[in-house]
Amino acid sequence: MKIFLQISALVFFCLSGLPAPVHAEELNTRFAHIQYDDRDALKDFNYALYMGRLKNRVKTGDTIEEEVAAKIDFIVGRVMQVLDMYLHNLKFKIVIHSSPKQVHADFKRLYNVDVRYIAFYSPAQNTVFFSAKKAKLTVVAHEIGHVVAENYFDVSPPPKIHEVLAQYAEKHITD
Ligand SMILES: [Zn+2]
Repeated sequence: MKIFLQISALVFFCLSGLPAPVHAEELNTRFAHIQYDDRDALKDFNYALYMGRLKNRVKTGDTIEEEVAAKIDFIVGRVMQVLDMYLHNLKFKIVIHSSPKQVHADFKRLYNVDVRYIAFYSPAQNTVFFSAKKAKLTVVAHEIGHVVAENYFDVSPPPKIHEVLAQYAEKHITD
């Protein structure tokens, strides 16, 4: 359901000539550049990303855009705290799709494998792909755990360690 894939140089090379997917709208936060299919996808994402007991610690915004930005930056900060791995200048990308099918299509485009993940992180693209309605807090924290782990070290940790760090971030996000 969630994945980290170490991409090989060969795969990266093979993919480098493919055109980038077209995205309708964009949003910048402190840490993330977010691309989303349309405003409904962003609304669905915001709704799915219920903050639970962390709710009162996240700034609310006047718009969906502000609210999503506040949540993402809060989760990134919280994951850094949980992992004790701070990256003040972290920048990464998020793609939010309306349906899981588009997430599957992106995975297929990048890795040429058919899978049914609801979210995944591509280290080579430094991008997390989400299906809007499936983006609950633990899923988002898990994938951002991968982002922090990947960006923190000069040499990527081995896949198993990557996964352990992401699972730790997921487990302790609401502590
Ligand atoms: Zn993972």
